[in-house]
Amino acid sequence: MVRYVYDFRDGDRAMADLLGGKGANLAEMTRLGLPVPPGFTVTTEACRAFLATGAEPDGMAEEVSRHLSALEAATGRLLGQSDDPLLVSVRSGARFSMPGMMETVLDIGLTDASVPGLAKVSGNERFAWDCYRRLIQMFGSTVLGVDPALFDQALSVCGMTREAPDDLRADACGLARLVETYKQLVRDATGRDFPQSPTEQLRLAVLAVFRSWNAERARLYRRREHIPDDLGTAVTVQRMVFGNLGADSGSGVAFTRDPATGQPGLYGDYLPDAQGEDVVSGIRDTVSLAELERLDPRSYRQLRDHAQTLERHYRDLCDIEFTIERGTLWMLQTRVGKRTAEAAFAIAAELVGEGLVTADEGLLRVDGDQLGRLMFPRFDTRAAGPEIAHGVPASPGAAAGAVVFDSPTAVRRAADGERVVLVREETTPDDLPGMVAARAVLTGRGGKTSHAAVVARGMGRVCVCGAQDITVDGEARRFTTRAGTVVEEGTVVSVDGSTGAVYAGAVPLVASATMRYLECGEQADCLVAAVARALEHADAVRRLEVRANADTAEDAARARRFGAQGIGLCRTEHMFLGERRTLVEEMILARTEADRDRALAVLLPLQRKDFTDILRAMDGLPVTVRLLDPPLHEFLPERTELAVRVASAEAAGGPPDAHDVELLAAVNRMHEDNPMLGLRGVRLGIVVPGLVAMQVRAVAEAVAERVREGGSPRAEIMVPLVGSVEELRLARAEVTRVLAEVGKETGVPLDCPVGTMIELPRAALTAGRIAEEAEFFSFGTNDLTQTTWGFSRDDVEAAFFSAYLDKGVFAASPFETLDREGVGRLVRIAVAEGRAVRPRLQTGVCGEHGGDPESVHFFHRVGLDYVSCSPFRVPVARLEAGRAAL
Ligand code: ADP
Ligand code: MG
Ligand code: MG
Repeated sequence: MVRYVYDFRDGDRAMADLLGGKGANLAEMTRLGLPVPPGFTVTTEACRAFLATGAEPDGMAEEVSRHLSALEAATGRLLGQSDDPLLVSVRSGARFSMPGMMETVLDIGLTDASVPGLAKVSGNERFAWDCYRRLIQMFGSTVLGVDPALFDQALSVCGMTREAPDDLRADACGLARLVETYKQLVRDATGRDFPQSPTEQLRLAVLAVFRSWNAERARLYRRREHIPDDLGTAVTVQRMVFGNLGADSGSGVAFTRDPATGQPGLYGDYLPDAQGEDVVSGIRDTVSLAELERLDPRSYRQLRDHAQTLERHYRDLCDIEFTIERGTLWMLQTRVGKRTAEAAFAIAAELVGEGLVTADEGLLRVDGDQLGRLMFPRFDTRAAGPEIAHGVPASPGAAAGAVVFDSPTAVRRAADGERVVLVREETTPDDLPGMVAARAVLTGRGGKTSHAAVVARGMGRVCVCGAQDITVDGEARRFTTRAGTVVEEGTVVSVDGSTGAVYAGAVPLVASATMRYLECGEQADCLVAAVARALEHADAVRRLEVRANADTAEDAARARRFGAQGIGLCRTEHMFLGERRTLVEEMILARTEADRDRALAVLLPLQRKDFTDILRAMDGLPVTVRLLDPPLHEFLPERTELAVRVASAEAAGGPPDAHDVELLAAVNRMHEDNPMLGLRGVRLGIVVPGLVAMQVRAVAEAVAERVREGGSPRAEIMVPLVGSVEELRLARAEVTRVLAEVGKETGVPLDCPVGTMIELPRAALTAGRIAEEAEFFSFGTNDLTQTTWGFSRDDVEAAFFSAYLDKGVFAASPFETLDREGVGRLVRIAVAEGRAVRPRLQTGVCGEHGGDPESVHFFHRVGLDYVSCSPFRVPVARLEAGRAAL
């Protein structure tokens, strides 16, 4: 028999797949003996069954009613019992936290019949009506599908708004009238009465929470966070406790330490006389926990102790939702909390320092994306004008952009390539698309635990919230600062999520402290020291080497400072651009061998100098030089442009420029409809005489020069786009011939390894043959992805990738994160078959994927020797290679 319902006492945190994070952690807190209102959780399995069939699975309803009976017995009251009703909350909770994206309904069980009973036992009539109007509002909108705006309108007709705390002043009579209005609203919108059966309310709410798994915003959030769509949500049913029972009650959110900086010490927001959602929604301004300590020292101390228990137990930063009912503290939720990149490193270092977690675990608590964020530049405050506003620094980073006042506008303008800053009085889950599109989020209300702050931190978006010195007028599309400055839509502002400052205009940027450390080893503060510890540990445990893709001596030097252990890809085509273009043109246009040799002879010393400089910067470390790869016409002027130039000269009556005519003829001759699959890579070397020889000679002479200078150059020659061993054999013969020739001329023995890129499926599938001729394989995963999928990267990304991502064909672009199933399989095959033939074959990857965290883990598992990525990704790859090894 499948079991669909678990009491809190029967679960634990390991059961998050089945009970969702919320249910599993409520069970864990119950086990720890913390004060958790009793309840039970309906499993994600039941949800999946319901979503698949549209009906509750067999037996679920009976189990729910059995657990409800047990809850009723334990509390000594029946759900909705008229003289003293048991009320429950019905809460969503998935395996992975999706803050505010699904539904939760509070105060289930209240009916016309039991409101008086609740009023009597609580001795607070106003409270009873307040619960009832909250129930009808939440149930009406989430379960019955009534437009929430209708309830808000009704509120304001009664002189109350959701935003203003005026409803606190509404008396019982006013609230009772509001309930009547709400009930009429429900009747008008749905054609039926608000359900008066407590158990029917419960059943409908549970199913509505199941359905909320597929709500539009929940789907969008999952896509962004790469959470699978088929997990489903659990539903937790829990006895209500009341924070809206007067001044000695309230609700709050706390972190066991500061989620923005990682600093130890209880941190959070509290709202007296409030129920649940009021806190996170930013509807009313919260007070600090220091204020709670003043209001209710006993509850505060308990909360602090429980926080410490949780942090010790989970051995990590936890966030907590709590409610105080007439001086009694109740714990309503906990989980390992989302945090900024800064806090992640700081907390990991501190917990390792305290001996609470091992250095390995500490490394697993941070990741490459977070490190990447710390490398972003900061505002140069000396160059900034005065602050126009200041709020809570909720999610760090520096971003400038044009202000917009609603989510659709943010999405639209960002799609047009504009940088925007989303400004809202407060955000709601419906603002998610705008938050995704914006560079920064600025809100007028709410603290570090508000919706805007939590979501922004989760996705690494810059966020300043609760800037109380601005007045946001969304309708008029402007905000006003305390000084009276009016900032209209489209005005550029700069938002500093690390300090909370907002400046007018775009403030210039400077390197971050982490970047300065990476560049020159300066350990300015404890955050940077924490980053340094993590990288050192990663270096100590990783098996993968990390190299860089670099084509110039400066890039090579920077990469080396960032910890690169060599160059995995030195693209020679960049040495053919700029002023040298005309020389390349001459070589391409040469009619005779002598002409071509002359052109190549001019290029030779220039390339040699480039290689000498690079080898010097990477002295003692391998430098993998790739022979010229792109089609030659990329070095010639654009075809249409040339044709127009020639034609207009003719139209003007004069003879066109002779050189232009010659060029046009060459361009026409070399034109390819599909150059990506045309004359490029090794094919060029085979077809264009002298090209390979010139490049190899430049490398070889540079090596000889470096040896004469007393250096230890370690050049490797790499042949691109090989599909068959025959191609490689031809190219290699030429390479070896030139190496020997230069060796003899210079007297320096030249034994540069010769290898190939694996970037065609045929190369991967015949890797055993190719390994006969290759001393190393370097997977060019950009081309390998293009050729495996048949995707032209330059065309498909704009054309239809967003549709593919929407429809879930893949979770991430295969050009960003390696497609393990297809492209990855080719990599596995090639490594295995290559090594079978040549056991000491060196293997690496030099596509963009070399710096992508998820892909790095894959390359580690496949057993590659190194990854190579752009210099700025080197620290990220080091960190991830370390994490992959644990
Ligand atoms: P979310 O996943 O969006 O945080 P929750 O299920 O945590 O939704 O519910 C939202 C709020 O409702 C919580 O912050 C909590 O304060 C309140 N709440 C939930 N269950 C109860 C309960 N049994 N008693 C009192 N308040 C509750
Ligand atoms: Mg919650
Ligand atoms: Mg390639």
